[in-house]
Amino acid sequence: MESYSSDAVILHHLDYGEADRIVTFFSLERGLIKGFARQARKSRKRFGAALEPFSTVHVRWQAQRSADLVTIQEADLIDLRSGLRHDLLALALAAYGCELIENLLGEIGPQPEAYQLLNAFLNHVHRQGGSPDARLIFELRMLNLAGYEPHLLHCSRCGGPVCTEQVAFSASLGGGLCLECASGTDVQHLSPLSLGSLSRILQAPPTLFEGFRFGPQTLQEGGNAVTSMLKRHLCRPIKSLSFLDQLSEGSRRVAAIR
Ligand SMILES: [Zn+2]
Repeated sequence: MESYSSDAVILHHLDYGEADRIVTFFSLERGLIKGFARQARKSRKRFGAALEPFSTVHVRWQAQRSADLVTIQEADLIDLRSGLRHDLLALALAAYGCELIENLLGEIGPQPEAYQLLNAFLNHVHRQGGSPDARLIFELRMLNLAGYEPHLLHCSRCGGPVCTEQVAFSASLGGGLCLECASGTDVQHLSPLSLGSLSRILQAPPTLFEGFRFGPQTLQEGGNAVTSMLKRHLCRPIKSLSFLDQLSEGSRRVAAIR
């Protein structure tokens, strides 16, 4: 048995038997880990609220080379982010973000930039609530960190400029296209403004979420472009996405009535 410790974000947990829990966490030092937390449900003294999803904690665990699950020994709470639990849209967006980390990055060892991005995203949603802007920023930066950054300033096919009146985007061809190259089954058209906004997201410091405010057209066009890229690279469909989409649609309708 080897012992490890690291700061980590709790992604989700699953009840096991009468008293135990299986906890998936994204650690700064070791990346994605699944651990067994004995007595986590029965004894509040043992872990307190430290294993609640979306918390940042310091975890200590032991691992055997042959076992899939590590044994979680202790977890000290650093930030519970209680604000996420009072707002359904914020909660759904946080769950989606955590699932995206697990799905897109998988078990490939430590990824400190993705760890910092997830913490910044959860802090933002905890303080400001869920928003389509935060979702778009997080999705695009995740694509970038996973190595699937779309071409935004040049045509993915010919390398020429894409700053014309209308530009195209194709997930299968890797991003923006000039109009001469815009042919294919998955080509969508968007405004240069939307493409420019996506580019600004990637040029800004990677943990900055404040100060972005996108218009409805950018949210829709940019959102469609990024979603189509994500779909090509996910290991499996995201379970929390349909709930998030339902809630987002509901809040869009309420905003339109007001
Ligand atoms: Zn081209």
